[in-house]
Amino acid sequence: MIPAQFDYQAPATLEEAVSLLASDLDGAKILAGGHSLIPAMKLRLAQPQLLVDIARIKSLAYIREEGDQILIGATTTHYQLESSDLLKRICPLLPECAKSIGDVQVRNKGTIGGSIAHSDPAGDWPAAILALEAALVLVGPNGDRTVKAEDFFVDLLTTDLQPGEILREVRVKKPSGRFGQAYQKVPHPASGFAVVGIAVHLELNDDGSCKSAAIGVTGVGVKAYRAQGVEGALMGTNLDDDAIAAAGTHVCDGIDPNSDLYASGDYRCHLAQVHTRRAILAAKANVQ
Ligand SMILES: Cc1cc2nc3c(=O)[nH]c(=O)nc-3n(C[C@H](O)[C@H](O)[C@H](O)COP(=O)(O)OP(=O)(O)OC[C@H]3O[C@@H](n4cnc5c(N)ncnc54)[C@H](O)[C@@H]3O)c2cc1C
Repeated sequence: MIPAQFDYQAPATLEEAVSLLASDLDGAKILAGGHSLIPAMKLRLAQPQLLVDIARIKSLAYIREEGDQILIGATTTHYQLESSDLLKRICPLLPECAKSIGDVQVRNKGTIGGSIAHSDPAGDWPAAILALEAALVLVGPNGDRTVKAEDFFVDLLTTDLQPGEILREVRVKKPSGRFGQAYQKVPHPASGFAVVGIAVHLELNDDGSCKSAAIGVTGVGVKAYRAQGVEGALMGTNLDDDAIAAAGTHVCDGIDPNSDLYASGDYRCHLAQVHTRRAILAAKANVQ
């Protein structure tokens, strides 16, 4: 439980962090909240030569509105998202997801950027940002680029981040019109991580029928994904109980579900179906 030896740098600016990272593309790693990286280092699953601590770059922690977007800095903590009055008002899925994460200590240190970059198959943020169709701004030695959340998660613990790149910002379009959101999660009793987590963003037509649905799923597969079968089945329906139950049966379409000592693949899919239905019902009840 003692990590291998490493160097530590705490840059004051993002530019400095990018250049430190570029100085050792194979050996350097970003440190944010440390709540995934430090345990991995203690187990020697990760042995970076250099930690570049971005949690001390004050300008990277923010939640603000800009035009029709919500901008969230990468080192914004789970707690800052959970307690944001702005988000509770304009995009309640984000604080609802944040408050389901781990415990108070984890939420006080862990960051949204660290969680998304780590891409744990049971992490909560990936489901929420997929349902919100977020964009991720990455910065590297060659400047900025923006990637859609659905293109970012590549495989188990693997993202589209290239060597030397830092996730700088999460961008979410401000929800508008008649919309409802919800996050439903079955937490693992020991860690709090999602055995299954379902994030829903619904948009309704004036007559109450489903205009669009975006559903992010975590815990079920090797990476978080959009449940397109459910989304397609909901479109145009009047969102009655039968339509929602029928749509929920598609949540594991095309997915080879995770299986472990706590939950077999079949059980996970059953949980996912039940909680997809509950999450859609909750989102419908939350329509503004
Ligand atoms: C007891 C416990 C319970 C937990 N329960 C939950 C839970 O219920 N749900 C959940 O979702 N998570 C849970 N977590 C994980 C927690 O949310 C972590 O905070 C999160 O996964 C990683 O964020 P971090 O800021 O701590 O990142 P770190 O641990 O510092 O970094 C994680 C990885 O991401 C990289 N990285 C970090 N920031 C960036 C960036 N901006 N750009 C590029 N790369 C970056 C690092 O190099 C590292 O590889 C739990 C953790 C613990 C210890």
